[in-house]
Amino acid sequence: MINLVLFGPPGAGKGTQSIRIAGQYHLAHISTGDIFRSEIKNETPLGLKVRSIIEKGELVPDELLIDLLRTAMNRHTELNGFIFDGFPRTLRQAADLDDLLKETGEKVTLTLALEVDDQELMTRLLNRARIEGRKDDTEQVIANRLKVYQTQTSPLIEYYKRQGKFRVVHGKGSVEEILGRLCKVIDGVVE
Ligand code: ADP
Repeated sequence: MINLVLFGPPGAGKGTQSIRIAGQYHLAHISTGDIFRSEIKNETPLGLKVRSIIEKGELVPDELLIDLLRTAMNRHTELNGFIFDGFPRTLRQAADLDDLLKETGEKVTLTLALEVDDQELMTRLLNRARIEGRKDDTEQVIANRLKVYQTQTSPLIEYYKRQGKFRVVHGKGSVEEILGRLCKVIDGVVE
């Protein structure tokens, strides 16, 4: 199986690229952000619990992620593996993911990081705000999400580097160009 983590700050293009990679390698695309947005939209108990956290740009508590992930993964066992988008976001989540994969004798194959500078991220996210109207895409909340990424998520870079699984891909260019760069790295590792 191929288990990929697509890593990077908000606005780096993880969602856009994950969908394409999932299609190309027959992987299940698991986006925790998409799952939460759907829960909020459907006003489920979980959705009601996480709405204000997400609207402030904070992270949902780690303990709420694990069951969600297990359910999402069990739904897609027929494919070649998974691409995780927006997960893990903390060291605890990375350890939980390792444990979960271990249950079926699996592990993270590769972590691909999309690198984009902060100014470009802000421009992209404000642009998306105009198109999609996401509540967490206001300038103030975006700034907080970038800060949360720096403090809570970026330590994962060292975590995966130590395991020799971390690869950086330049995240500026056309969608197709960036996809090409990502696939090149994936093919070098899985073949
Ligand atoms: P982005 O990467 O653009 O910030 P996401 O769709 O991945 O967007 O996430 C949106 C929000 O959902 C995050 O700011 C956070 O509040 C919540 N969220 C998503 N995934 C996680 C996660 N793995 N752990 C904690 N919170 C999460």
